[in-house]
Amino acid sequence: MAPQELRYDGQTVVVTGAGGGLGREYAVFFGSRGANVVVNDLGGSFKGEGKGSRAADVVVNEIRSAGGKAVANYDSVENGDAIIKTAIDNFGRIDVLINNAGILRDVSFKNMKQSDWDLIMAVHVKGAYKCARAAWPYFRKQKYGRLISTASAAGLFGSFGQCNYGAAKLALVGFTETLAKEGLKYNILCNTIAPIAASRMTETVMPPDVLNSLKPEWVMPLVAVLTHQSCTETGSIYEAGGGHIAKIRWERAKGALLKTDDSLTPGAIAQKWKEVNNFAEAEHPQGPGNAMELLETAQQLP
Ligand code: NAD
Repeated sequence: MAPQELRYDGQTVVVTGAGGGLGREYAVFFGSRGANVVVNDLGGSFKGEGKGSRAADVVVNEIRSAGGKAVANYDSVENGDAIIKTAIDNFGRIDVLINNAGILRDVSFKNMKQSDWDLIMAVHVKGAYKCARAAWPYFRKQKYGRLISTASAAGLFGSFGQCNYGAAKLALVGFTETLAKEGLKYNILCNTIAPIAASRMTETVMPPDVLNSLKPEWVMPLVAVLTHQSCTETGSIYEAGGGHIAKIRWERAKGALLKTDDSLTPGAIAQKWKEVNNFAEAEHPQGPGNAMELLETAQQLP
């Protein structure tokens, strides 16, 4: 990819949850680089309570005042059809979808209410699904699409008090990696980011000096690269924040191969425990197919 200024002229970009934080940063950037932008935001609290039009309107005005093209949409991402319809009705197309909207309902597992679980799943998982589902037929028909899902370190590694959020965020990894496989032949590229940035979501849990080193504008350039027409990356996960950008991947220990007969007992596994856990000769699987090869090898053990 040439390091020239990336542009998105004539393309329509939908950014969900673009009324603040990271989403606002993305929307303003795309608006400044020639794209038509749909600024979606429900306008509620970071816990998912309430709603309003102000958050999205402020960002739309900011983009328009700078000479860009943008329209607001105030639907919840659970109503993804309406969000994509806003793009089609106003601009006649959709090229890029950034599933960014999100909320937190942090609470220990012991004290979690059903509503804390349900609301997180509804906004993050159902929301991303509904928006992608509505955009997909357009992506396929035009043989072009760029989709970003927003995961989190909480999903990749677990995080105290965030089992609902962590579960939803890792669900988006499986979702996006699958869409990457299904979209490939239609030039629909789908990647996941796990950002870290100062926003109303993180300002309650991080001290000001740390927040100063985590500006949302330092996550935006990665999103710009992954959604540009020159990008070829798909099915990948990237961490981004505070000037650090890095790909994350799965690693599988070489493991143990055991004969598939009566000798495959708990004791046999216990004996090979070191091999099972030894990453010295690890590999980096990219699909279920890699595991099938191993199973076939195990079947053929003498
Ligand atoms: P933020 O609260 O500033 O932005 C999220 C936006 O989504 C808000 O403007 C909110 O109104 C909107 N939103 C919430 N529910 C919605 C719904 N149902 N429909 C439409 N819009 C809705 O927080 P942020 O930090 O900018 O978060 C952006 C994304 O990044 C989220 O998915 C979040 O989980 C993820 N993330 C952020 C961090 C971080 O360090 N900030 C870390 C990991 C993941």
